[in-house]
Amino acid sequence: MKSDFRPFSRENVNLHSEFFLGADPYYLCLKKKMARLCPQCGAVIHGRSDKRFCSDSCRCDYHNERRRAQEKELRQVNRILAANWRLLSQLIRLGHKDIPAAELAAHDFNFEVYTAAQRPFLRQPVYWCYNYAYMIDRKGMVHIRQHRVAE
Ligand SMILES: [Zn+2]
Repeated sequence: MKSDFRPFSRENVNLHSEFFLGADPYYLCLKKKMARLCPQCGAVIHGRSDKRFCSDSCRCDYHNERRRAQEKELRQVNRILAANWRLLSQLIRLGHKDIPAAELAAHDFNFEVYTAAQRPFLRQPVYWCYNYAYMIDRKGMVHIRQHRVAE
């Protein structure tokens, strides 16, 4: 049986296809032999074909800004996870292993962020915040379990 499948190679790539609309403009410009623009300041890049920025300062600024944005995003997620973790550990310490979800939410627990989730067949999912596991039953009660990490 003849297949329409063609392996992906440089030769059969259609750069104008929708697939490439989100591609790195640098590579599209190279392929189309267009003037390359500096992604940092927008100036036309002169010189070697593999040059990506108009200057060293633009290259540094671009990477620094990207790193700062990544670190900011990571800090936001870490802050939520840390706050959730502190609340779970406090509840366990006080002996509150089972608590209404509404009460957790009232303490600013963020249910959208967790480190892992298990979805056992026909059972309620189990969420993890590092070493704490919690499950929300059909009555809206959250059951928290601490898993001690061996050193
Ligand atoms: Zn530049």
